[in-house]
Amino acid sequence: MNRTVYVNGEYLPEDEAKVSIFDRAFLMADGVYEVTSVLGGKLIDFEGHLARLDRSLIELDMPKPPAFDDLLEIHRELVRVNEIEEGLVYLQITRGAPADRDFAFPDPETTPATLVLFTQNKPGLANSAAAQKGIKVISIEDVRWGRRDIKTVQLLYPSMGKMMAKKAGADDAWMVQDGHVTEGTSNNAYFIKGNTIVTRALSNDILHGITRAAVLRFAKEAQMQVEERNFTIDEAKDADEAFITSASTFVMPVVEIDGVTLGDGTPGARAQRLREIYLEESRKAAI
Ligand code: PMP
Repeated sequence: MNRTVYVNGEYLPEDEAKVSIFDRAFLMADGVYEVTSVLGGKLIDFEGHLARLDRSLIELDMPKPPAFDDLLEIHRELVRVNEIEEGLVYLQITRGAPADRDFAFPDPETTPATLVLFTQNKPGLANSAAAQKGIKVISIEDVRWGRRDIKTVQLLYPSMGKMMAKKAGADDAWMVQDGHVTEGTSNNAYFIKGNTIVTRALSNDILHGITRAAVLRFAKEAQMQVEERNFTIDEAKDADEAFITSASTFVMPVVEIDGVTLGDGTPGARAQRLREIYLEESRKAAI
């Protein structure tokens, strides 16, 4: 594969793109990111992702990113040159590469931020086999830091969680803190009981999913009740249905939790309906 990627103002073939070994994301995970999905060659929920990017940067005292229109143009150009019909655009901003390693933040006047974007081509993203089958999750302890609302590139524990799931023959892990589910390794977690969707309320404990916000809005429009509250893994195991949401999986049905089958072990009707509504509405609003 030789994609065109974007690094600090330049479009380059991926094997010519370079970032310093002193970059603070490499040395200290001092960077934030966003992932925007592409359907029909257009960007899904782009405004939401950029709003969250701004918030992540503010929370970490990092300089403002390039203007909205400039970032939109870079996203669109990468989608165009790499011919992405279905896939993702990954954006990362770091606190830049100072002259030497130092715990103190560098002066942004002399150390500009590093901006990197690349695409991931994923034909069949909307029609994925996983969505037709549903996924299996296990529960693991949540040992991440206390500011999970900031979308940083500190993804080691989520990666470890994913490996724990794979080792257990599952697809993903739901993390549990003080007896309550926080979220999946790279997604928000939900169960459905009757006509009610339950998911953890927003706080510093979870990432404020852009897909989550859209899906909860559509759920209310579809006359489903939404409860944003703490829940245990046992409550989820006892549910009629469960699902996860993220920019790369949209609404993905969960059919098994810690070896316990939900319903008849196939994706639930409501989760499937939410996926359809999300995809339909997102395509309409894509830019
Ligand atoms: N929680 C975590 C920990 C995540 O990494 C992600 C996806 N990056 C999400 C939730 C879902 O967020 P979004 O819907 O904005 O992709």
